Amino acid sequence: MKIGVLAVQGAFIEHERIIQELGYECIELRSKSDLQEIDGIILPGGESTVQGKLLRELDLFDSLKEKIASGIPVLATCAGLILLSEEIENDDNRYFGTLPVTVRRNAYGRQLGSFETTQHLEGFGSFPMTFIRAPYIVSVRDGVNVLGTVDDKIVAVQYQNQIGLAFHPELGGDDRIHRYFVELVEEWKASK
Ligand code: GLN
Repeated sequence: MKIGVLAVQGAFIEHERIIQELGYECIELRSKSDLQEIDGIILPGGESTVQGKLLRELDLFDSLKEKIASGIPVLATCAGLILLSEEIENDDNRYFGTLPVTVRRNAYGRQLGSFETTQHLEGFGSFPMTFIRAPYIVSVRDGVNVLGTVDDKIVAVQYQNQIGLAFHPELGGDDRIHRYFVELVEEWKASK
């Protein structure tokens, strides 16, 4: 089983380290041919505008979108969540649009640009959350399961095989979300 980690920009290395520690192989996604053998996708944090631009320049955008739309499990954090979202409230860009939610970019303002908190996450209990110039989810549509909120703002959702997180689970020293994600990947692979 191989996990593709989008590696055009941003915080992909930490995800790779965790996935490898769990015993799975990672493929860094930088071109269309990297998509062939993967069973799951991680979209890391970073800068969504830069990632979106590079995805188009590398001619990776359409094939990656198609792969995600086919139902492959996706773990998207922060900028990755923005790439997945159907609507971005304060940005004219649209990317994959496979996750039926509306997000607001850089939603915590300047003073709360980065912060850490531990909050309840559905199915996990207490979970450490690191936010870095993070978005939050303003609204969700049918079929989206809200997994967590911070101060009444939605910060974690699952829709079918797509997990969208406003925070960085790879930085909190807790690998349970990655474990859950590889389980989804195992199930998806077994069902094919
Ligand atoms: N502020 C970034 C964006 O809007 C996201 C920040 C992150 O991924 N940590 O794309």
